[in-house]
Amino acid sequence: MTTPSFDPPPPSVPRPRAAESAGYAQLFHPDNAGRYASAVTDALRLLLDQLATVEGPVTGLSPAAAAAPVTGVDLDAPLGDVTAALTEVRDLWLADAVWFHDTTYAAHLNCPVVIPALAAELLMAAVNTSMDTFDQSVGGTFIERHLIDWTAARAGYPEGMRDGVFTSGGSQSNLQALLLARGEAQLRGVPLERLRFFTSADSHFSIAKSARLLGLGDAAAIAVPTDAARRMDVDALERMLADCVADGLVPAAVVATAGTTDFGAIDPLDEIADACRPYDAWFHVDAAYGGGLLASPRYRHLLAGIERSDSVTIDFHKSWFQPVSSSALIVRDLATMQHASWYADYLNPQESENPNQVDKSLQTTRRFDAVKLWMTLRVMGPDGLGAYFDAVIDLAREVHDRLALMDDIETVAPSQLSTVVFRYAAPGLDEEPLGEVNRRIRAALWSSGRAVVAATRVEGRQFLKLTLLNPKATAEELLDVVDTARALGRELTSVAAEVA
Ligand SMILES: *Cc1c(COP(=O)(O)O)cnc(C)c1O
Repeated sequence: MTTPSFDPPPPSVPRPRAAESAGYAQLFHPDNAGRYASAVTDALRLLLDQLATVEGPVTGLSPAAAAAPVTGVDLDAPLGDVTAALTEVRDLWLADAVWFHDTTYAAHLNCPVVIPALAAELLMAAVNTSMDTFDQSVGGTFIERHLIDWTAARAGYPEGMRDGVFTSGGSQSNLQALLLARGEAQLRGVPLERLRFFTSADSHFSIAKSARLLGLGDAAAIAVPTDAARRMDVDALERMLADCVADGLVPAAVVATAGTTDFGAIDPLDEIADACRPYDAWFHVDAAYGGGLLASPRYRHLLAGIERSDSVTIDFHKSWFQPVSSSALIVRDLATMQHASWYADYLNPQESENPNQVDKSLQTTRRFDAVKLWMTLRVMGPDGLGAYFDAVIDLAREVHDRLALMDDIETVAPSQLSTVVFRYAAPGLDEEPLGEVNRRIRAALWSSGRAVVAATRVEGRQFLKLTLLNPKATAEELLDVVDTARALGRELTSVAAEVA
């Protein structure tokens, strides 16, 4: 046996005494535990005070009114204590925050969050675990891996092969999926300039943006038309794949969307898997929105065919009620993750025997977001959590059906998930003024602070959109919002008529 090559520290060096280190009073450290506790208690009290007085999802501030007090703060002149800084941050942010727990927030795919995840967030922030290497995350590495394996098993991927990693969001998950698809095509000798991917015309913009980021050029992402239910038209896909090959190009990937951002439409996954097969094309499912169905007690069947894909994007911060950020990319075959690997002597040398998550990630330093989902599942279980998503799917259906009966409301095909796309459609008004009236309805709702709805376009025509992610919301509350929109619509239309 050789002796250790380092010398133990000389015993004469005294450890710093608490009194000395207390100089660094704002560090999270056992010496400052009392200060930490009082800061967190003050913050909690402020949060609960605000929560008790919230009167709507927003206060309707304009960008200019929101900016002025913030840009006026002199960042070189600190306030010195947490209480004062909390008061300031209340005025600059919380007092006019957008509250996603409010049942009349119905705009974007940002969800109300569950309590077990918030308890986890408190711990992970203070400990400051970083997921890049095992020697910064120990148990966290295995919590993340176990969750990835569980999620991939729910998607139906084979045991022993499946893998994946938590990411910052669906955009990053999609980028990584396409990086893997590109890498697999390159292994087969496909020249990059001939590589193409196919995705529905309604897919998320991060797919086309990924083509640009991956150096494939904007022309590499090809939009496949959708059918009347706004799902990818598979006959068109098949024709376009054949044309692609006839043109001497290579269809390297097909991206299906399981829950389009606007319409909650789920592309026909099984048929798309069949269409991919003759070309050996990578089959990615962007389930950023619909991924919550993996835990659904009643609607899991809507994802049938997902088990035939090569990779899936899941945003836990949408239909799993997790605080931002929490997302994952899962893959059928762990060998394909090599395309995201890079080794550095200072961090994760190739000969390291540790399980280093950075080997699979586009990020280096990375939050321990997995612990939030872990706590959530350990408290609620998948059925308990999935029932929240099921509730908003039912709610959307009910609201859609009620709106479809109204004479002055136009709807589009009902969502398979939880969006309702509609507009105020006064009889006899042309397309252009109608678009303007609907844009103004949305702005007026925002300014009133009573409700927040989103907007989108359907074949160039202006529509409004409810994105429902709050299981506590009722159909009556949402129909009330629509009634307000109709009243505003009537008012705006008569003004338009007077002007004309
Ligand atoms: C939200 C969304 C994304 C992007 O996810 P982020 O977490 O916002 O990056 C991608 N695809 C679909 C279908 C989405 O709805």
